[in-house]
Amino acid sequence: MRLVPLGTGSILMRGGRSASGYLLEAHGQRTLIDCGPGTLLRLQQAGVGPETIDHVVLSHFHPDHHADLLPLLFLRNNPSLTAASDLILHGPPGLQRILDAWDSVYGKWTLHPRDRVHELDPGPHAVGEWMVVAHRAAHTMPSYIYRISRRDGSGPVLVYSGDSGPCAELTNACHGADFCVLECSVPDDAPQDARDGHMTPKDVARIVTDAKPRCVALTHFYPAMFPLLSDRAGLERAILAEAAGSASVRTRFLILEDLQAIEIDCGMRAVDSPPFP
Ligand SMILES: [Zn+2]
Ligand SMILES: [Zn+2]
Repeated sequence: MRLVPLGTGSILMRGGRSASGYLLEAHGQRTLIDCGPGTLLRLQQAGVGPETIDHVVLSHFHPDHHADLLPLLFLRNNPSLTAASDLILHGPPGLQRILDAWDSVYGKWTLHPRDRVHELDPGPHAVGEWMVVAHRAAHTMPSYIYRISRRDGSGPVLVYSGDSGPCAELTNACHGADFCVLECSVPDDAPQDARDGHMTPKDVARIVTDAKPRCVALTHFYPAMFPLLSDRAGLERAILAEAAGSASVRTRFLILEDLQAIEIDCGMRAVDSPPFP
């Protein structure tokens, strides 16, 4: 399982961090998890043609997580493309309404077949080779957290928080997982309105204490987080100190960077790959 972070920042897109998007590659299948503005450019920088994406799975409908779906659909209709994958779109209820709105403006240029649009209820769904379990997030409604594993149960378990404040659904989704991509949008001392529907390092520490995932990869950083990110070891120590009630916490931490691919293998061991040129 290979994860390429395409955007680890916020809609502000500062500090070399684009808006939310992740490429998940395995079993010859390419899945985009969220598709915020900048995702198509990042894909090109990663050497991946956007027309080769098999599935798009959206966590929610804030534009920093889905805005590049529109140019992706437009791109697939470009006459210069000789072939494109059989793209299937997945997301919370409301996805078809957004596509219909785009169709009403752009007509055939962004049209996508209705039988290739799957609106997901909470619970398990087959997405190609993956089993994707949707959990309700503590964010704008509807928003999902996704727990992703191979359909036959083999291999690592990946969790993607999307945007979410701390909640029991997120803790449950992360329980015993191999690799959790958790948003850590703002510092603990951020104003309350900046923390609403998002997590801070202390919130991450509580998830680590309760769910004990093997690896936590932090993402979705607003610029207020940048000073903390400049001292990675200090940030990890602070989270572990906050989670210190449990001596059994052995969680490893990563700070995701745009285009820094990660190989996630079964026994855990997330290994940083060199960034793309
Ligand atoms: Zn959001
Ligand atoms: Zn967001």
